[in-house]
Amino acid sequence: MKIDLSGTTALVTGSTSGIGHAIAKGLATTGAKVIVNGRTQSKVDEAVAVLKKAVSGAEVEGVAADVSTAEGCAALVKAVPSVDILINNTGIFEPKEFFDIPDEDWQRFFNVNVMSGIRLSRAYMPAMLKRNWGRIIFIASESAIMIPKEMIHYGMTKTAQLSVSRGLAELTRGTAVTVNAVMPGPTMSEGVETFVKNLAKQNGQSVETAAANFIKEHRPSSLIQRFASVDEIANMVVYVASREAAVTNGAALRAEGGLVPTIA
Ligand code: NAD
Repeated sequence: MKIDLSGTTALVTGSTSGIGHAIAKGLATTGAKVIVNGRTQSKVDEAVAVLKKAVSGAEVEGVAADVSTAEGCAALVKAVPSVDILINNTGIFEPKEFFDIPDEDWQRFFNVNVMSGIRLSRAYMPAMLKRNWGRIIFIASESAIMIPKEMIHYGMTKTAQLSVSRGLAELTRGTAVTVNAVMPGPTMSEGVETFVKNLAKQNGQSVETAAANFIKEHRPSSLIQRFASVDEIANMVVYVASREAAVTNGAALRAEGGLVPTIA
């Protein structure tokens, strides 16, 4: 199978680093025109330059906008009025004891992780339905279905994404538009790398040992017993975005290394 998305435009939110950046690269490789998004112009410019260098002939543009606010989403939609593929990737996480999580954190997590995808889907999906082709993919997490006790607020937002994703898929009936969610497990994005490097420093270990121990101790049900790479997650997302994935719709797809122990 050769995935060819030339002629399409894809927007990946939060794509200046991490999983989003890898998805942007993956989509650029298939020939899609890719719109990179982050909050600061300098980071966006840097990410665009990196992608153009990494993928020869890539058509990449960037828009700086904070997708956690209504104004930020509106500015993004104004700059890019139409897309064929929308990847709602932006997300934040932070371990915090439930009893210490203030109202503001619940609201902030909801705004960044959930409202961003809701606002952008509301803006872009009607034209997809009209054109009779489009892809919306929410980057959720295995935390959507295995709520982490150390960050219940994060788990709540990821479950909410599955709900919105499935609900939107219901609106695609009889069209060639699909809406799906992908659930990565522990993935070595820049943010996670910093976390593991700090762990290694604290414990006087190599980064590799700290990473392996983290999985062994905190994610024992993982079948792969390692972090995924950002490219491994991007591979799944690029497939779901492809024309070849036409019959996958309304699904919550796992890319979590077998961490979730249930069959379905
Ligand atoms: P990351 O922190 O490495 O990257 C997040 C990106 O989003 C960055 O480019 C950041 O600048 C951008 N961003 C943050 N807030 C933004 C905002 N308000 N507006 C625009 N851009 C913003 O994160 P990551 O680990 O690559 O995670 C990406 C997605 O994958 C998130 O939704 C996360 O919940 C999910 N996920 C990550 C993991 C993991 O282990 N890394 C596991 C499961 C799910």
